[in-house]
Amino acid sequence: TVRTRIAPSPTGDPHVGTAYIALFNLCFARQHGGQFILRIEDTDQLRSTEESEQMILDSLRWLGLEWDEGPDVGGPHGPYRQSERGDIYAEYARQLVEAGHAFKCYRTSEELDELREARKAAGMHVALKPADLALPAEEHARREKAGWPHVVRMQVPATGSCVIEDMLRGQIEVDWAQVDAQILLKSDGMPTYHLANVVDDHLMGITHVLRGEEWINSAPKHQLLYEYFGWPMPRLCHMPLLRNPDKSKLSKRKNPTSINYYRRMGFLPQAVINYLGRMGWSMPDEREKFSLDEMMSHFDIQRVSLGGPVFDLEKLTWLNGVYIREDLDNKAFLEALMEWAFNEEYVSQILPQVRPRVETLSQVAPLAGHFFSGLPSIDEASFEEVKLSREEMLKLLQFLIWRFELVPSWYKEALLEEVKTLAGHFELKMKVLLAPVFIAITGSSTSTSVMDAMTILGSDMTRARLRHAIE
Ligand code: ATP
Ligand code: GLU
Repeated sequence: TVRTRIAPSPTGDPHVGTAYIALFNLCFARQHGGQFILRIEDTDQLRSTEESEQMILDSLRWLGLEWDEGPDVGGPHGPYRQSERGDIYAEYARQLVEAGHAFKCYRTSEELDELREARKAAGMHVALKPADLALPAEEHARREKAGWPHVVRMQVPATGSCVIEDMLRGQIEVDWAQVDAQILLKSDGMPTYHLANVVDDHLMGITHVLRGEEWINSAPKHQLLYEYFGWPMPRLCHMPLLRNPDKSKLSKRKNPTSINYYRRMGFLPQAVINYLGRMGWSMPDEREKFSLDEMMSHFDIQRVSLGGPVFDLEKLTWLNGVYIREDLDNKAFLEALMEWAFNEEYVSQILPQVRPRVETLSQVAPLAGHFFSGLPSIDEASFEEVKLSREEMLKLLQFLIWRFELVPSWYKEALLEEVKTLAGHFELKMKVLLAPVFIAITGSSTSTSVMDAMTILGSDMTRARLRHAIE
């Protein structure tokens, strides 16, 4: 039976790209009466967080993308979290070393830099090959005996080429000269993506791998690993990546990419799914509006077109409006509103901000409006009272956006740190720096605390409002 998977790394906000790839994997599996699995690829222990994992699960489920096996629902091939499968990878790496398909590498990072420089100087591809990395036998033995830290790398052919079969692209030929002796186990014993991904896809019975085209370059290594293990290779399908309207790869620098943003903005999950389904794909009758069930029953992977699909906020907004007008009666509309923000979970985050600041209940809505809206309507005049030149203010807001892009975990103290550091750099009082931020976020010069507002609104909504203020 067909088994597909989505394998997100929990290293940040849940990405719309993850939902897009999950959608196509789910449809492919369902169309074939197969199963769809969710696996968490958290081998990067420095960047992975539980909070991010939880957000990914929550947001995929909010979209209605249900998996048959996964870390939260279990299944016969668990654990479904790579950080809990360390022994499995170590054992398979050991087998590869024993069979001569992988080797221990004791090279220091200085030596690796030198080797790369030498290849560059010789006009060769910088991919490090096993022959470059080999140490004289006695030196290898000395380092091994002295217990130097080492990694395990895979053997790769020095010359010739390999051919990858892609379900959409046909045959892709890659020269082995470009493929490096990939690290499989890091010096701390943790696997890299490549080893863990291949081992798990095999052990979890994955038959078809649908993933973003950014992974095409990894395919030769994966194919070789399957050969080394003597395992059948799943069929590969590399999906076109989502694009910004200017055709560059969709990225958070230019567009909101977090599913949380679309949720907070008040998009309906069925409209987001419908829109993602139209990214590079269309129904046989080309209709624009269709449900997840309809997509599953008419799905055909060969209808995916490779031209980069543009994720266009305006079109998504239009489609969302169609759903609100055509699919929701007043009762369903009320339910959607309650699910969106008028519920205890969201409102109770806001009440502590509001209660100390009102005298009557009727003052609540005007004061807390920014928690229930998208981008505030502001213009240059809104910033009149700010004690900074327009130029200086734009520069500061842009710097703040850049700093916020890099915040790994979105909580108040972390944001405060960023604001403090920036104020320090420009030798400004926090209050002066925060004044334009306040207006950009809340849309007015008197409201609730801006630091709390940014924390509650989340990373993408905060950055979208800051961007909107300087556009
Ligand atoms: P950004 O440029 O916005 O920071 P990123 O490439 O750093 O994005 P990651 O956090 O590395 O994003 O990716 C998270 C997940 O989203 C990955 O599984 C990745 O494949 C997927 N993804 C990222 N960008 C796109 C895209 N443009 N189209 C489809 N999937 C994407
Ligand atoms: N963990 C990878 C990601 O974040 C999975 C890539 C794959 O599907 O092989 O996208």
